[in-house]
Amino acid sequence: MLEKEMAVKGIISKGVRYVAGREKIKPETLSEKVAEGRAIILKHKNIYLGIGEGLKTKVNANIGTSPDIADVDSEIEKLKTACKYGADTVMDLSTGGNIDRIRNLVFERSPVPIGTVPIYQAAIESIEEKGALTRMEPDDLFRVIERHASSGVSFTTLHCGVTLRTLERLKKNPRKSMVVSRGGAFLISWMIGNGRENPLYESFDRVIEIAKKYDLVISLGDGMRPGGLADSTDISQIDELLTLGELTKIAWENNVQVIVEGPGHIPINEIPANVVLQKKICKGAPFYVLGPLSTDIAPGYDHITSAIGAAVAGWYGADYICYVTPSEHLSLPGTEDVIEGTIASKIAAHVADIGKGLAGSEDSDYRMDIARTKRAWQEQRKIAIDPGKFDAYYKQHKPSEKDVCTMCGKYCAIKTVERYLGTKVSIK
Ligand code: SF4
Repeated sequence: MLEKEMAVKGIISKGVRYVAGREKIKPETLSEKVAEGRAIILKHKNIYLGIGEGLKTKVNANIGTSPDIADVDSEIEKLKTACKYGADTVMDLSTGGNIDRIRNLVFERSPVPIGTVPIYQAAIESIEEKGALTRMEPDDLFRVIERHASSGVSFTTLHCGVTLRTLERLKKNPRKSMVVSRGGAFLISWMIGNGRENPLYESFDRVIEIAKKYDLVISLGDGMRPGGLADSTDISQIDELLTLGELTKIAWENNVQVIVEGPGHIPINEIPANVVLQKKICKGAPFYVLGPLSTDIAPGYDHITSAIGAAVAGWYGADYICYVTPSEHLSLPGTEDVIEGTIASKIAAHVADIGKGLAGSEDSDYRMDIARTKRAWQEQRKIAIDPGKFDAYYKQHKPSEKDVCTMCGKYCAIKTVERYLGTKVSIK
């Protein structure tokens, strides 16, 4: 029986029990949310992961080859690194080399659920085998989706909401950066080239059929996500969102679990409205945000621009953050970029959980406050999100007194106050 079907029938599934245990909530509460579509359960081998309302904000790391750099070993290294630094899921976005082989290897080696974007492979195969993307038949695309589902991936991004209507609206209301989603760009090119509707929208029943066969979670892609602040929350973006709201309802009627993907580049003051709109239009379906990047002027630092956006989006209710690395807009990320991107998103997710008021979300912050006051360096290191970086800074200079750091040395504010107030603290 499908995960959502069980929840609708009031059956507490193995997945719900597993996730409820990890999230420290009642299985009955989680099961209700899964039944309503407000939370989803991803299955990977014999583990489960929950995403959605009332659950911790999750982080995804993208890996994958490109046509220019197709080094499988390096992608496996990035997979290991992302998981080591706390990624909850990994998406294999490979577009170079033997895509099937890479996906199978990533699935085999991954301790976390895997997601993919089948349109990439369908488009590439069409270009390589038939000479043009426009020669791709809808059957080719659905065959690739089924190939991904049958290879065990937990979810796939499908840009079902880019329609001919969206395209007309885009033409009437041109953007500064027209379309920046790879999947969206492939589909729009195909639609223009063939003068036909997006097969993922027109034959959404076939998408549903595959999802039901493999209990595959559909991540409704944002092909019209804005690629710059100038295009944020515009007609094309909202048009696609309206379609995604309708498709979410159809998926739920078929007991298919759905995540809805969102922007993109959004100024910080528009982020709350974007979350509210998505949650209203898609009736509470989990919201998966790419960043959002909160400014366009910091290439090399887009893990920071996106972490700022993600913290605000998460605070207002986004459930799932796709990391952005410092190499965004510039190059395929390397292992160091994966570390920076994962940690920045983990920080944003943690900040969001505090903002959401999730029970226990501030516990480690309180423990850190006490450890800092005691200048208990080993305790601080244990709580630190990145102990490696903690060491690198703490050990780079030797303090003049052993219970202070070199920031203030003998003028350590905490020590000075402790001396005069006689503060006594203990870690509870
Ligand atoms: S020296 Fe300054 S920065 Fe270091 S622990 Fe004391 S107050 Fe904090």
